[in-house]
Amino acid sequence: MAYSYEAPVSQSLFDRASVVTPGGVNSPVRAFRAVGGTPRFMVSGTGPYLTDADGREYVDLVCSWGPMILGHSHPEVIAAVQEAVSRGTSFGTPGEGEVALAEEIVARIAPVEQVRLVSSGTEATMSAIRLARGFTGRAKVVKFAGCYHGHVDALLAAAGSGLATFGLPDTPGVTGATAGDTVVLPYNDLDAVRAAFAAHPGEIACVITEASPGNMGVVPPADGFNAGLKELCAADGALYISDEVMTGFRTSKAGWYGVDGVRPDLMTFGKVMGGGFPAAAFGGRADVMAHLAPAGPVYQAGTLSGNPVATAAGLAQLRLLDDAAYATIDAVSAELRSLVGDALTKEGVAHTVSAASNMFSVFFTDRPVRNYEDAKQQDSFRFTAFFHAMLERGVYLPPSSFESWFVSTAHDARAVERIAAALPAAARAASEATA
Ligand code: PLP
Repeated sequence: MAYSYEAPVSQSLFDRASVVTPGGVNSPVRAFRAVGGTPRFMVSGTGPYLTDADGREYVDLVCSWGPMILGHSHPEVIAAVQEAVSRGTSFGTPGEGEVALAEEIVARIAPVEQVRLVSSGTEATMSAIRLARGFTGRAKVVKFAGCYHGHVDALLAAAGSGLATFGLPDTPGVTGATAGDTVVLPYNDLDAVRAAFAAHPGEIACVITEASPGNMGVVPPADGFNAGLKELCAADGALYISDEVMTGFRTSKAGWYGVDGVRPDLMTFGKVMGGGFPAAAFGGRADVMAHLAPAGPVYQAGTLSGNPVATAAGLAQLRLLDDAAYATIDAVSAELRSLVGDALTKEGVAHTVSAASNMFSVFFTDRPVRNYEDAKQQDSFRFTAFFHAMLERGVYLPPSSFESWFVSTAHDARAVERIAAALPAAARAASEATA
């Protein structure tokens, strides 16, 4: 596919990057492989806008894949970071900032009685699974196809996100022994979960699920699905782990827990809680968390865990996320969903705008999408055409049809107008696209 616009500076940076970094990027979905073309190298961000190395400005609907929920360079977050940096960047000792951030998380999310801070969502899910295995003395982990929990070896089987984007079933480098304890089931299928517990009674340490998946596109849990998981886990003595790395502090003040009220045994967080810095967490029942070192025998540690700059950024961001902020995000999301839906309908493009609270994505199919298999049935080639038409008109979408779109409190009327202005041509491009 040829593109009518160019990005020479980004291209030359990408050429340089490709010499010294595999594929030219430090995280696969950034490489534009699913949609083709030159990945944009960004140099700055303000509010809802990003500026690339060629000096073009975009309305950002990726928001760093979720964290930038207040938009870029929010003055109060930047001030908190500057204040923290002025006192030093890492001490390797406890500090008050990490206590305050943990208190904020515990105060917002009732099932989290205790929390441990880490540096990435991957570390959070990896540690939560280790803790679940240590607590239960069991080995097996149940996960769902299309759910992504970071690049944890045991959780890469049939994962979403980049693996969905690139159509990878799993990855070399994960041994059979590691993957052998992972049971992968279709999402939204409680009968499959029942059957797994029947096949492995007393062997399953935990069921881990995205609280509401956003890594196969947005596919919300069916009514009663999360409650059913919780019930089946409790009946067998397994732990129910809700991965809220994406939904946490985004889909409501208390994340997806604030939406469905199903009480997990353990939860994982990342993205929004770091305010654009590497901060993540896992937490939950105090009796389970008590098994974690140094209180208990399950080892877990990190040189930069609870880093003072990251915790200052995260805390500043969370404190700004009040009811009014969520109302703003919800309203912008609803407006964009209706604009996108209308534009595609007008051009006769089969589509489903799928939403979970303010997270949403567009599937280029009009058949219902309840799981990963359904998501894969969409006409992704239409997304490719749509993506490039939007990019050309200054709207930065996730470069994959298997990713959620993210909005922020900074997406104001001007930003929405820019998106609205780009949509008719993008919808036309989607309708004219061929496989
Ligand atoms: N869990 C979920 C639901 C995610 O969406 C992600 C990242 O996209 C992760 C875990 C991994 O987080 P990180 O990329 O910070 O390691």
